[in-house]
Amino acid sequence: MAELLAVSDLTRRFGGLTALDELTFRVDEGMIYSIIGPNGAGKSTLFNCICGIYRPDGGTVRFRDEEITGRRPHQVARRGIARTFQNLELFRHMTTMENLMLGRHLHMRSGVWNGITMLHRGSRAAREEIEHREQVEEIIDLLGLHAARDRYIWQLPYGTQKLVELGRALATRPSLLLLDEPAAGMNFEERQDLLFWIGDIRDELGVTIVMIEHNMQMVMGISDRVLALDFGRAIAEGEPAAIAAHPEVVRAYLG
Ligand code: ADP
Ligand code: MG
Repeated sequence: MAELLAVSDLTRRFGGLTALDELTFRVDEGMIYSIIGPNGAGKSTLFNCICGIYRPDGGTVRFRDEEITGRRPHQVARRGIARTFQNLELFRHMTTMENLMLGRHLHMRSGVWNGITMLHRGSRAAREEIEHREQVEEIIDLLGLHAARDRYIWQLPYGTQKLVELGRALATRPSLLLLDEPAAGMNFEERQDLLFWIGDIRDELGVTIVMIEHNMQMVMGISDRVLALDFGRAIAEGEPAAIAAHPEVVRAYLG
């Protein structure tokens, strides 16, 4: 399989704390790749370094044969990397549909506000608007968000809000999707649904997925490979069964 993302010797410090300590791993195209580890292990910091929110102190990030280390968030997004946040970042007083349309704005040549407000029939903005709505409707279908479509975010159960955020990331049509604890705060049934949809996103849209998950059991069934982090270092990397049985992983989780 072709390499899509390669992280090499990535280091990030906060004062005296080394949140990422020369971390190295690679993700191939089409994988569901999970990153597990206790709280404070450096998982979210890793995503922030990949996406350009934090500048790493050392090491490199490569995406499709191009080094993207230290690029700004919008530059990373334009290359086809989308993410969700551990703490929801949605517009609560906008509807599901409106939030998903905002995800499309990367692709709007005439700009998101033209797309939303200029509805002159036949104008380029209007044609784009229709195209984007169709794409967003596809995502609503894929994630079963019909009932939430025209409701405000604040009116939705937490599990559904998390799905909308996933949908908004998908609306940018990424080739790589980074999910930071997508199942956090969900009940058992919502978690099962989410795993099913993550599988669908990979299988039907061909999106490569890197998923952070605090709960190790949650990712074992769905992941092609798993990276276990502790104190910013890789303590184990490999196929799910091997990671679950790895003595260092067991110690990190129990100790
Ligand atoms: P995880 O997502 O695995 O729970 P984080 O990546 O959020 O862990 O954090 C890793 C470590 O880095 C923690 O000790 C955290 O307190 C620290 N850290 C993360 N972001 C910052 C920041 N902006 N300033 C200071 N310390 C931070
Ligand atoms: Mg985190």
